Amino acid sequence: MTKYIFVTGGVLSSLGKGITAASVGTLLKHSGKNVGMLKIDPYINVDPGTMSPLEHGEVFVTKDGAETDLDIGNYERFLGSSYLKSSNFTTGQVYSSVIERERAGGYLGQTIQVVPHIVGEIVSRIKLAGEDHDILVVELGGTVGDIEGLPFMEAIRQMKHDEEVAGTFFIHVTLIPYIKAAGELKSKPTQHSVQELRRIGITPQMIIARSENALPKTFKKKLAMSCDVTPDSVIEALDAATIYDIPVTFLRQNILKPIAKELELGELNPDMEKWDTLVKKIVQPKEKTIVGFVGKYLELKEAYKSLTESLIHCGAHLDARVEITWVDSEEIEEKGAEALLADCDSVLVAGGFGSRGVEGKIQAIQYAREHKVPYLGICLGMQLTLVEYARNVLGLEGANSIEFDENTPHPMIYLIDNFLDQSGDTQLRTHKSPMGGTLRLGEYPCDTKEGSLLREAYHGEKTIYERHRHRYEANPTYREALEKAGMIVTGESNGLIETVEIKGHPWFLGVQFHPEFTSRLQTPNPSILAFVKASLSAE
Ligand code: GLN
Repeated sequence: MTKYIFVTGGVLSSLGKGITAASVGTLLKHSGKNVGMLKIDPYINVDPGTMSPLEHGEVFVTKDGAETDLDIGNYERFLGSSYLKSSNFTTGQVYSSVIERERAGGYLGQTIQVVPHIVGEIVSRIKLAGEDHDILVVELGGTVGDIEGLPFMEAIRQMKHDEEVAGTFFIHVTLIPYIKAAGELKSKPTQHSVQELRRIGITPQMIIARSENALPKTFKKKLAMSCDVTPDSVIEALDAATIYDIPVTFLRQNILKPIAKELELGELNPDMEKWDTLVKKIVQPKEKTIVGFVGKYLELKEAYKSLTESLIHCGAHLDARVEITWVDSEEIEEKGAEALLADCDSVLVAGGFGSRGVEGKIQAIQYAREHKVPYLGICLGMQLTLVEYARNVLGLEGANSIEFDENTPHPMIYLIDNFLDQSGDTQLRTHKSPMGGTLRLGEYPCDTKEGSLLREAYHGEKTIYERHRHRYEANPTYREALEKAGMIVTGESNGLIETVEIKGHPWFLGVQFHPEFTSRLQTPNPSILAFVKASLSAE
């Protein structure tokens, strides 16, 4: 039977509940426990797949092809495991399945209500995610007091008394503001938030106190007393130099002791030595390299979360600070690529949807190709390398992706209409297909070509596995012409063009997959690692 740790948030959002959950999970995993992770999102979208990255940050894709909240990415990066569809669900999914069952007559004439039916569905989904794990860490999105969070609160309250549950532990993450004028730390918002939780029937057993200032012992004691937790269950979370330092700072405060006691986990001694060495290299690296990061969702850097984190992982392994120069692709259209990229050691063009900024990305690619600057193009950043090569090397005027020009005379990137998805079902894809859940999603194999940068990056592996999230594909009609002119296909997945490289360029790789989704602090993604290495050795 599984034990459950629930992480709720109070006072305000963006306090780092996800990192807290991931840190607790990491410490338990490094103690030898089999840990599962679950994020519950109270919004009504079925998944974040149709949400703008500017609205919700990155959409993270799991191995089995679910479009999930970016916190699942944090869990994978911290715990080094791959989680599946069942690791994230939303209010939308809960209601959809209850309504579907009701229409099919599954409730035998009952009146369907939030309690017990919606709450029951939530409980069974939490238990499903907990199956086969010693411990499941559950992060509840939103803040205590939100209307839409109530059924979830009720579900986790009920789980305290569930016979199929081996134990529960409630962690509440809150903010301790510092009032400058009074020179005081304030505990009142936390007290109110805990009171609100208790009104719903949940008594938190641990307070994670986010604060800009260290909490004096007397303050911690007072906070423990007023929140009805033991003094060793108030854990302070100060702003950290890197998020990867947080598990270690929690460990120093003996965070596992009260958890182990309550959940009867025995003595826990997590081995964090290798982890700590990497953290030190993130904080004080020997070398430095500058990556020109070309994108269009720059107002919200969370839109590229996995990618920026993967650069940090690679830096930690190469003992280097990977500094990012953010370059807005629309600005390139006005000022030219050279003006904005000349100071960078390498160029990275990230994935994206929609035509805004596409021409600027093409200019950045041309600049990297012609100036022999190390280049990594991901997804759209790969597709556009074919467009650029077609236009500027093959001389195919008007070449484009049909995503941006339906009537292009040279559709370098096109829609294949009979795509076999992961489960072997045929997916029909046209411009009019519904937007939700109709992409090529999740992990697919890719065969690497001998002698390629790709094969070298993956230490000679003949077949590699990476995750996808895109609708369009490279058009094989142009393959021969491209290869004759020096753009070589070096990765293929069941006949689809997966990666391209350029003969004679020191390091140029376009990948249709998203390598950033499999990068973890302890095992950085090989293609991104090779790119950062090339960036480090660039003059
Ligand atoms: N818009 C492109 C496609 O759908 C690329 C997607 C991406 O970069 N993730 O194929």
